[in-house]
Amino acid sequence: MKAAQLHAPGDIRVVDLPVPQPGPGQVLVKVMAYAPYGTDVGTYLNKGGRYVKDYPVGIGADFSGVVAGLGEGVEGLREGDRVSALALDHCGTCANCKAGRQNLCLDPAFKTLVRQTCCEEYTLVSARKLAVLPDAVGFDDAAMLAGPVDALNAFTRMGLKAGDTVGILGVGAMGLGAVAMARALDLDVVAIGGSGKRSQLAGELGAARLFPIAAHGEAVSDAVLVALPGGLPAVMETTASEWGMAQAFAVAAPGASVALTGGGALPVSNWEIVDRELAIFGVRAGAGQAQVLDLIASGKLSLRPTVTRRFALDDVAQAFSLLAGPEARDVGRVIIEIGEAE
Ligand SMILES: [Zn+2]
Repeated sequence: MKAAQLHAPGDIRVVDLPVPQPGPGQVLVKVMAYAPYGTDVGTYLNKGGRYVKDYPVGIGADFSGVVAGLGEGVEGLREGDRVSALALDHCGTCANCKAGRQNLCLDPAFKTLVRQTCCEEYTLVSARKLAVLPDAVGFDDAAMLAGPVDALNAFTRMGLKAGDTVGILGVGAMGLGAVAMARALDLDVVAIGGSGKRSQLAGELGAARLFPIAAHGEAVSDAVLVALPGGLPAVMETTASEWGMAQAFAVAAPGASVALTGGGALPVSNWEIVDRELAIFGVRAGAGQAQVLDLIASGKLSLRPTVTRRFALDDVAQAFSLLAGPEARDVGRVIIEIGEAE
């Protein structure tokens, strides 16, 4: 089978590998669509040397496909089922898993993140991670679940309800997913950041206010505070960057909730958190895949309008060079089309 492999930072090749065989509890999935996002670009460049230890290595996390083989003991799935996969594996039996918080599984065996790869014709997935797609959900939307799933987790934890206002910091792949999720929940969205096409896409997804930037890394919080005096009652930071963290905390109003998806040190001191009574939520992916799929099936949520480029697996190097380069600002979501529908 064809598979994308990284051989060094920025060096991605399509190689020929044997089709893997599913072991106990595993499912062989024929990959249909793969939608790269920020973490994939970080992995491609091995930013800060923290993504890849040993080369060569596969790439890709957010995908959809068709069940092509079942390992021993797998129940509830059949060959031919259309599926998508959660980012994180889990035990399914601990207190957190039973409470629907599989992203916080208590079993130490699942504490270390096992990176999924999916930029290949076939991939092995733990059966517990798979969800069967409703008929009305296409492979494109099912390959872009990570952003909406994270955002649903963030908004739920922040206690947001229809009509509430939320600031979304960053309008890359995760940010656009968060904007779409917020609109599906009838939240009022302030999209902060993005230059070029990306900010425009946030508007098309229904963000009521846009605060685009002219260049990468430009401070935008002052403009937000002039337009919205006092700041925002809730902010989700989606870039995991120093820039995004600084902007998110600058625009958070006294009493605000701030949801974080990654990043380094907080840009505020303990005293500032106390003085402004900020509530800070860590968001480790999410477990709301079924809810997100239902919202897509009902027509309330779709990231398809954000797809601006499509590539074949053979052209994956072109796709990553685009996403890691200066032209990325004019690119929405990218789909790598891998399998053909039968
Ligand atoms: Zn568990």
